[in-house]
Amino acid sequence: MKYPKLERLQILHYPDPHLREKAVDLTDVGNFLKELTERMSELMFGAKGIGLASTQVGWPFRFIVLGSLTEEGKSEGYINPVILSRQGRQVAEEGCLSVPGIWAKVRRAERVRVRATRIDGERIEFDAEGMAARAWQHELDHLEGGLFVDRVGPAARIVIAGRLREMEEHYVPPDDEGDEH
Ligand code: ZN
Repeated sequence: MKYPKLERLQILHYPDPHLREKAVDLTDVGNFLKELTERMSELMFGAKGIGLASTQVGWPFRFIVLGSLTEEGKSEGYINPVILSRQGRQVAEEGCLSVPGIWAKVRRAERVRVRATRIDGERIEFDAEGMAARAWQHELDHLEGGLFVDRVGPAARIVIAGRLREMEEHYVPPDDEGDEH
């Protein structure tokens, strides 16, 4: 497995091609994930986000970090997360650390049942709803190479099209791809 250099990790911005990669299952669950959780949390909180997926830092293995919605500055890493079921519907404004400056209404399920493995190896399964359900759905889209801007309605799409085009025109690829360890 190719490990990224943690100190060089950065949040990739649209239209970086890594954001469109489909992440693969993680099988090697070692100490590295604790350090990765810390580094991704640092990047996420530094950018005032509440979630960050591995594809957003160019490491396409199924792993996400979510900030606590109740305890400020607290976060947790989740390995191989999946959504088992979705119920209901909610529509709210959404943004993304990889698409800075754009907010748009996105329709999501109101409740989701999720399964994942914590970085200490414990398997967990639980229901999330409201804002937490939204965060899980948003981050799991990232692991499929999806972005929230793919899900906005036709009217919002027109509004954000100019800003997306601007980001495409000003895009500069990062120079570091990490090393084999
Ligand atoms: Zn995002």
